Order: sequence, then C-alpha cells, then structure tokens
Amino acid sequence: MENDILDKLERPLRDLRLSVTDRCNFRCRYCMPEGPDYSILSSDKILSFDEMERLSRIFVSLGVSKIRITGGEPLLRKNLPELIHRLNLINGVEDIAITTNGSLLKKFAPELFNAGLRRVTVSLDSLDDERFNQLNGNRSKVARVLEGVEAASNAGLKVKMNMVVQKGKNDQDIIPMAKYFKDHKHTLRFIEYMDVGNSNGWRMTEVMTKQEILDRIEEVMPLEQIKPNYVGEVATRYRYKDSDQEIGIISSVTDSFCSTCSRARVSAEGKLYTCLFASKGYDLRQLIRSEESDVVISNKISDIWNHRIDRYSDERKNGNVSRNSTKVEMSHIGG
Ligand code: SAM
Ligand code: SF4
Ligand code: SF4
Repeated sequence: MENDILDKLERPLRDLRLSVTDRCNFRCRYCMPEGPDYSILSSDKILSFDEMERLSRIFVSLGVSKIRITGGEPLLRKNLPELIHRLNLINGVEDIAITTNGSLLKKFAPELFNAGLRRVTVSLDSLDDERFNQLNGNRSKVARVLEGVEAASNAGLKVKMNMVVQKGKNDQDIIPMAKYFKDHKHTLRFIEYMDVGNSNGWRMTEVMTKQEILDRIEEVMPLEQIKPNYVGEVATRYRYKDSDQEIGIISSVTDSFCSTCSRARVSAEGKLYTCLFASKGYDLRQLIRSEESDVVISNKISDIWNHRIDRYSDERKNGNVSRNSTKVEMSHIGG
C-alpha cells in the first residue's frame, strides 16, 4: 500500500486492537486475578467513540485493515454496536472482530450483527462449572457463555473460541472442549498461558505447550496441519483427519511469531502499545484532545512504528527477558 509504514524489523502495521474499556465482570486468574483493587478509569479518561473513530481512520491510512475490539470486557462498554457501525463505515477496514468472555453475548448478538459485525471470538476455558468458576473468579456459569455462543451463531456471526490452557488447572478440559466445539462446528483455538502483566504469578511449569496440546488431542482425534490463511496469522491451523473442522494453537511461548507481528494496541485511555508485553505506552489521548491535526497525529504514530523493535516472545524463548520489568496488564490492552 502507498502509505505503508514499516518498523525496524520491516514489519508493516496491519492490525489494530482497540480496547474499549478496562472494566471486566470476570476475574480470570491469569489476567485480572481477584485481590488487587483494580483502579478503573473514570469516563473522562476513556476515549470517546468520536476519538476512537478518528484514531482508527488514521491507523487505516497507515496500513491497518483489521480491527479487533477488546477490553476488559468489551460488551460492558455502553452502545458498543454504535462503535462497530462507525468503524465499519471507514474505507479500508476489511475486517472487524470482537473478543469477549461471552457472558453478555446472548443479549447483544443480534444488535452486533445489525451493526455490521460478522465475527466474534469467545473465550472459554472449561466446560466444567466448578473449574470454570475457579478460573474466572466465580463470575459465570458455563451455560451462560454457551448460550451466548449459540445466540451469536443464530444471529449470523462466525464464532471462534479461545481457550487458555494451564497445566494442572484445566488441561483435563482439552479433549472435552475439542469434542464439543468439533460437534458444534466452531473453530477452537488453544492458547499457551502467557506471562502478560504483573499479577498472574506466571511460571513456565504451568504452560501447556503447543506440542503437549497437540499430543493430547492426537491420541484421540488425529490431526493434520493446514496452511495459514495469511502471512502473520497467530494461530497454527490443524484439521481433524475425519472432518472439515479445524482448530488452532497460539503458541506465543514455545513457538513465538514476533517476526510477522503487525499489531498495534490502543488502550481504553488512548495509549499506544507496540507489543503485548510493553511497559510503556504512548499517550495518543493527549494528542487528540489537543488542537493537533490528523497529519501531526499520523506522523507521530508513523514515527513510533518506525522505531519499533519489540520482539518480547522471541527474546523470552532465548532467555533474554528481564523478569523485573513492569508490563502493562492484559485487561488494559486486551489480548
Ligand atoms: N474479556 C475479553 C475476553 O476474555 O475474551 C477480552 C479481553 S481478554 C484480555 C482477551 C484474551 O486474552 C482472552 O481470550 C483471554 O483468555 C486471553 N488472555 C488473558 N490473559 C492471558 C494470559 N495470561 N495468557 C494467555 N491468554 C490470556
Ligand atoms: Fe476479563 Fe477477559 Fe481478563 Fe478474563 S481474560 S479477566 S474476561 S478481560
Ligand atoms: Fe508481537 Fe510483542 Fe507478541 Fe512478539 S511478543 S508477537 S512483538 S505482541
């Protein structure tokens, strides 16, 4: 594209992850564990839809074609379908998706579809209520999420499922989840547990690796690897040998994919992060609330991207990361 910008490792800017709220109605242990008093941003600190739309237009002019709405829990943001509708009208946006914990999906699925959304990713880590509650801080029953999935599917949304696998916590759910979503024909993506943020007490011994997940599934349901849909796809794709249904594995820990990472993240308060593991974000809110023109803001974002050298997961794999640096919390910038 004409205005494509590249970072120091020659990676273009293609995806924007827009966090619309830092609030969440779950307390997943690996993300926002119960205990700390999360200081929730006041509404004047959060970007308005006008500001998000303006920023999105600028990002699109720099090469972004995909936008993922995330959070916190994005469906807690009031009038979210209106934002979807507005983003959909931006020339150059080819794909909009949401990542949600599914608890409010039953209510919002038809409205989201009517606003132009066509894809949703629902996070669910177990089909067992007791374990699910241990993982999400007692905030929701499995049935509520599954009803949300069904409502989304009935409304016409394509559904993908995300399951974060933690050894000793929910690895016994790999097979039941695989079977359930194979039967219901939704792509399930297994995610290696990551050391995002500072509060989940991450340990490598709790990571169920891509290979371990694959071995576990192959014992019961043989798989074959299939080609990525596009360069830079985060999940490695597999298909069950006896059906057309596919699964994915997101192996950020044991098989990182930084070399093709084209994702920028903007937090609900308008900070730009060039990596999920960044410790600092650049304050775009202050810039858009000043009198600066789109050109100035666009130049600033280009400049930040041009200087980007992030490759945290590659460095972690090589043992080159400091465990002491403070990282942004996942609930601030989404997955
Ligand atoms: N609340 C929404 C949800 O849970 O889908 C959106 C935000 S959540 C931060 C986005 C994704 O990040 C979810 O699929 C969640 O499971 C995943 N996630 C959160 N913490 C993680 C961790 N430590 N390792 C791997 N994935 C994580
Ligand atoms: Fe909330 Fe999603 Fe984080 Fe769970 S993973 S605490 S649902 S933001
Ligand atoms: Fe991208 Fe950072 Fe994740 Fe690497 S560690 S894939 S650079 S977000």
